[in-house]
Amino acid sequence: MKHFSHPHGLEQSEVQKEEEIICSGCEQELSGLAYICKKRNCDFLLHESCFKLPPNIQHKFHSDHPLDLKSGPPEYSLYYPCDACGDSINAFVYQCQKCDFKIHVTCAFLPDTEICKSHTHPLNLLHSTPNSSEDDLIYTCDVCDGTLSEGYWCYYCPDCDFGTHLECIKSSDLSKEEDDQEEEEEEESDEEESDQVKLIRARIKAENQMARLEFQMKMAKLNAESMASISRTYF
Ligand SMILES: [Zn+2]
Ligand SMILES: [Zn+2]
Ligand SMILES: [Zn+2]
Ligand SMILES: [Zn+2]
Ligand SMILES: [Zn+2]
Ligand SMILES: [Zn+2]
Repeated sequence: MKHFSHPHGLEQSEVQKEEEIICSGCEQELSGLAYICKKRNCDFLLHESCFKLPPNIQHKFHSDHPLDLKSGPPEYSLYYPCDACGDSINAFVYQCQKCDFKIHVTCAFLPDTEICKSHTHPLNLLHSTPNSSEDDLIYTCDVCDGTLSEGYWCYYCPDCDFGTHLECIKSSDLSKEEDDQEEEEEEESDEEESDQVKLIRARIKAENQMARLEFQMKMAKLNAESMASISRTYF
């Protein structure tokens, strides 16, 4: 099979996970079904999904023009940064023919909202740093503490002012998978729990809530009393 991005014929084949192979299209790790170059000493290969990428797309952050799939940066360019994440592009790229706009194929298909392990709310994809009334405010990524550079995309929760780099939400995704596994294990042990244990758990939870409420009421009363005594002293 031929792909526009490569001169040699490709063949469908299985790639083992241990081989640590990088896709020649999206620059991500590849395992499972792939399209591999048949020619000796040529290590070109593609995810099945990268083999089937649409030749052009319409992106909502560059809505005036379509973006065309190119096999790589132009030959003359030494450094070809992605307009979404800021990292250099070394393989496939979606590019606007009219403007200097270009993004990784992975950045082209980022979801509008994404779950971050270190945050309770889903984060929204923004095409710039979060809006702010203060002009000189520097935004930092709440996952890695690095700077969120002006003009690049990020994931953001407006309610909590929580923002991350595009790649940082992904890196926490990896640990999320591990977490999910742990949760599954917990669920399994939950099933083994007797009803009595569950009842006790529920009672402890309720007692904790009562204690917290009582504490809050006490504090409120104390506050009111001290306020009263302060006003007695001063007025
Ligand atoms: Zn790929
Ligand atoms: Zn080849
Ligand atoms: Zn990118
Ligand atoms: Zn354009
Ligand atoms: Zn970050
Ligand atoms: Zn939030």
